[in-house]
Amino acid sequence: MPPQRILVTGAAGFLGSHLCDALLAEGNDVVGVDNFATGNNANLAHLHGEPRFQFEERDICQPFDVGRVDGVFNFASPASPIDYMRLGVETLLVGSAGTLNTLELAKRYSAAYLHASTSECYGDPEVHPQVETYWGNVNPIGPRSVYDEAKRFSEAAVAAYQRYHGVNTHLVRIFNTYGPRLQANDGRVISNLMMQALRGEPLTIYGNGLQTRSFCYVSDLIEGIVRLSKSEEHDPVNIGNPDEWTILECAREVQALIGSECEIVFKPLPQDDPTRRRPDISKAKALLAWSPKVSLREGLAKSLGYFRSCVAAEQA
Ligand code: UDP
Repeated sequence: MPPQRILVTGAAGFLGSHLCDALLAEGNDVVGVDNFATGNNANLAHLHGEPRFQFEERDICQPFDVGRVDGVFNFASPASPIDYMRLGVETLLVGSAGTLNTLELAKRYSAAYLHASTSECYGDPEVHPQVETYWGNVNPIGPRSVYDEAKRFSEAAVAAYQRYHGVNTHLVRIFNTYGPRLQANDGRVISNLMMQALRGEPLTIYGNGLQTRSFCYVSDLIEGIVRLSKSEEHDPVNIGNPDEWTILECAREVQALIGSECEIVFKPLPQDDPTRRRPDISKAKALLAWSPKVSLREGLAKSLGYFRSCVAAEQA
């Protein structure tokens, strides 16, 4: 495919910044947009001086136009539970007005469009592993609803722009992902456990630690997303690593990696915390010839230098 001009919203975020890198590496021009609600300038620092990268600080909840683009990747949203609960109304707005504004842009320029959706669309799932055809079990008014329902609204909006306006849309349902540039203090399980182990603090486990998650290393996720963006598929596609871990097992992996005998402390389980989560990735495998390659052990090891630098920065 010849080089394109591509808009990435949420460009200063964990996934947005890795996506910018992947798109630039393919030879494209990238316009990154972020309002720094949860994004971090440091995630883009290595792109300063890159002539094919242009950055605009803006809030996508206001209509905007960055000029002609061939593709739009909509990755703007608070994403960790503590961030979206702190920024509840902002999360609802970016997942509604923000998504509609980016869809309008894609329609105007006949650009391809990919939206970052989420396994949270499945809520606390009654179907396991989660297949794309499952409609989910979401509490519409609970503490996670600002994120879950915003993402579900976004899916409806994306489907509507495909159906009514013929926009070439793609929906990726992203499962738990980790790696360098994950916010060190975003309260997520991998960042918490890594930072706690490196600081020599007790590891916090919420509830009994028997709830499960399936963790995907960031490079695997980005590869799946880039492949999906080039496909003809408009319906949602799960991208994640189906290797399922209890949170306690995950803590043991972190302990083994860091070689610490950190104490484990149990804390209350947050309301509506999903009891299990694992993607069925049959669709992505068949459609995109994609499957994740990096195991949790390898991925944690690849992330160690990053988390070490975060701890060093705290202590500086
Ligand atoms: N969790 C935990 N200890 C922590 C942070 C999270 O036990 O320090 C649990 C949390 O209750 C959930 C799982 O780990 O069951 C994953 O939480 P995270 O916030 O990473 O993302 P989620 O998948 O819930 O969006």
